[in-house]
Amino acid sequence: MGIVELSHIIIGTAICLFLIVFGSSSIRERKSRAAFLSLIMLIAFGSIWFGGYILFKPSPFFLSIPNIITLFMALLFFMPFGKRSSIKVGDITERVDERDIMFARNEYEPGTEKYDKYYADHPELKKIDDRIRKLPEFLSHGGRYYDQARSAEVQSIFKSVRSFLNHVDGEIDATRQQLDKMAITKEMKEMVLEHEAADVGVARLNPAYVYSRVGRGPEPWGAPINNNHTYAIVFTLEMDYFKVEQAPRLPITEESAAQYLNAAKLSIPLAEYIRNLGYPARAHISGSNYQIMLPAVAYDAGLGELGRLNYLISPKLGARVRLGAVTTDLPLIPDKPINFGVQNFCARCKKCATNCPSGSIASGGKTDIRGVEKWTFDIEKCFRYWKAIGTDCGLCMKVCPYSHPPTFTHNTVRAGIKSSSFAQIVSAWADDLFYGKKVKF
Ligand code: SF4
Ligand code: SF4
Repeated sequence: MGIVELSHIIIGTAICLFLIVFGSSSIRERKSRAAFLSLIMLIAFGSIWFGGYILFKPSPFFLSIPNIITLFMALLFFMPFGKRSSIKVGDITERVDERDIMFARNEYEPGTEKYDKYYADHPELKKIDDRIRKLPEFLSHGGRYYDQARSAEVQSIFKSVRSFLNHVDGEIDATRQQLDKMAITKEMKEMVLEHEAADVGVARLNPAYVYSRVGRGPEPWGAPINNNHTYAIVFTLEMDYFKVEQAPRLPITEESAAQYLNAAKLSIPLAEYIRNLGYPARAHISGSNYQIMLPAVAYDAGLGELGRLNYLISPKLGARVRLGAVTTDLPLIPDKPINFGVQNFCARCKKCATNCPSGSIASGGKTDIRGVEKWTFDIEKCFRYWKAIGTDCGLCMKVCPYSHPPTFTHNTVRAGIKSSSFAQIVSAWADDLFYGKKVKF
């Protein structure tokens, strides 16, 4: 057997093995369409590639043609090809007031001083917010997916998270320990990862990402936020794949609540530990206690890139993560933002925009928003939809190709789309083929 025949058999076997592995992981992921199509492709490819070789016994010259084409395509898929775009962050001159975020605005009750004051300053938001306020409360009777027992269970988890709100900060030990930066950074990261975080990073805290005034939470509404900490230890927690797959139904919200609780259980003792070392530290937890804009800080900490869907996209788990953080003056070594091709891929993919039932996600290009170039996102439409269905929806997270589990086949695709425009075009098309362009729910 010559080198051309041997190459033909090796290449064909590798492709068949890839399809077998993809098919079996699709069965484990309960993706019947992908499993079925991979089986059809395996049979079709195997018959043509090996059947043609056995039946027609082509000359080495003719046999080398499919070999060369296949190797060339594989090369195009993995070789850096095309310019990799990065997130452009300019001068951010204005901090965001937490009173303006949708969660805060939803809490302003008509007839209260807060309501009157806020809408006197922001009359343009009154009509739209009043309409949102009239919808049933999140996880309450009247939402499309409301379930008396399960919705109450999720409510109780969120209530448990809120019970931590007064423990995010505390006394700092009077004796400040002298610590080696590298050693303490390593120790902090190990501690976070030991507590089931998926990933952890350190950001130099950009003051522009600290909210200017309190909008929710135990502190007085409108009080200035004076968080001057130098660093943020930020971590991701994985959202269970099968629960996210059930979006926009209740299980995704159960999972969000569970991970917010885990984030609180992790960040509060971490902040306490740092204060015991003699340094200020504050945990930032869900339920109105964030002083920082977590996705932006997580980007600075090298945990992922901001995607079209307005969530952080992490390299291994995509948007299927929740975030937690502790800000501190403990001397640490900061990480750097990463770039694994999300900006390029999101420019082509648009699957979240196609599937968003409320039309909140832009399908066009990026615009400059407060000094950061990103895709526009209509938070009012998204939040209105949450209240109408009674869950936190998450369909965009479910359909995002980066949310597939980090299996061999999905990681192989991720390695390609990191650098190659060819891989980005093929992968966006293949994701629609194997998983459907528009999901049914
Ligand atoms: S959570 Fe739902 S409504 Fe909101 S942007 Fe995502 S898909 Fe759209
Ligand atoms: S679905 Fe596509 S466009 Fe949307 S965030 Fe994910 S990769 Fe980007």
